[in-house]
Amino acid sequence: MKISYHQYELIPQSSLNVQAAALPRKGALIEVAWPDGAIGYADLHPWPELGDFPLAKQLADLHLGKISNQLEQSIWMAKRDARARCRGQKLWETATIMKNNYLAPDFSLVSEDHLERVKARGFSTIKMKAGRDLSGELQFAAKILKSGNFMLRIDFNSSADWSTFEKFITSMDRNLLERLDYVEDPFPFDEAAYNEARSLCRIALDREQKSLNKKKSPPCDVLILKPAVQDVDLLVDFAVQWKKQVVVTSYMDHAVGLVHAALIAGDLKMKHPNVLHGTMGCLTNHLFKEDDFFKEVLTTGPSIRVVLGTGIGFDRLFEKLSWTQAKVV
Ligand code: MG
Repeated sequence: MKISYHQYELIPQSSLNVQAAALPRKGALIEVAWPDGAIGYADLHPWPELGDFPLAKQLADLHLGKISNQLEQSIWMAKRDARARCRGQKLWETATIMKNNYLAPDFSLVSEDHLERVKARGFSTIKMKAGRDLSGELQFAAKILKSGNFMLRIDFNSSADWSTFEKFITSMDRNLLERLDYVEDPFPFDEAAYNEARSLCRIALDREQKSLNKKKSPPCDVLILKPAVQDVDLLVDFAVQWKKQVVVTSYMDHAVGLVHAALIAGDLKMKHPNVLHGTMGCLTNHLFKEDDFFKEVLTTGPSIRVVLGTGIGFDRLFEKLSWTQAKVV
């Protein structure tokens, strides 16, 4: 297996969560060539702010023949792409198309007009990142819930504590809470506190899954699945075992990463029709300045409609890139 990479930068439109400033984000596309001639592509986009190994370390390790867990996932996705490319299959021609939520990383940038446009485009769910300005976030959340136009998801990235979370939820109008789809990673994991939180609203686990005892039913209603860093089959088996639902999301990464996540969500819908919960979170292209790859992701409202090319698409663009060969493993 020969692995090459191409480093890139994404320019955020605004700060993307509590932990990250709005600085250019570094990642790498990877090209994996197998001995049988199959070639596939994927993304490697670390979030060191959230605990991933930095890109430089992952690439340096790769030159030494060491493959990080995150890169292992990228290779797994490249393999899916390679299988389709070998058959000349254009995955978007047969993909099951899923709707996505609208991600608002900074509520203060979302005006009334903006919300109207999001609604007109057909989005039915808004996901907001919270933990920076609780009173402003509470007002924004109440506005979304009151509008009656959207379901709301709130992701704290573990930045609240129990009492802040409780205050946040209990200060909302009870009648509006029906439209609160879930709160994701409200505070650092604690099984008893998470179970108690579930008496107030539905709870989703994302990063905090790392603390789970996999032999017990997880204290949540929804499990977030990020194919960029999680073993898809293991997580889905775990969800099925404990009758939990799954929301597939991108890694707020390169177009290549979000396209892989969206195709995986479509596959899961076919294979396990009941395991997915509501809309997915793969359409994160609006978070970054448009580049050649994002331009090729053609959308209709909350869904990716098509990406032209074989496999996951982008053939013409992959051909044009310069690749650094890292390793024959
Ligand atoms: Mg999250």
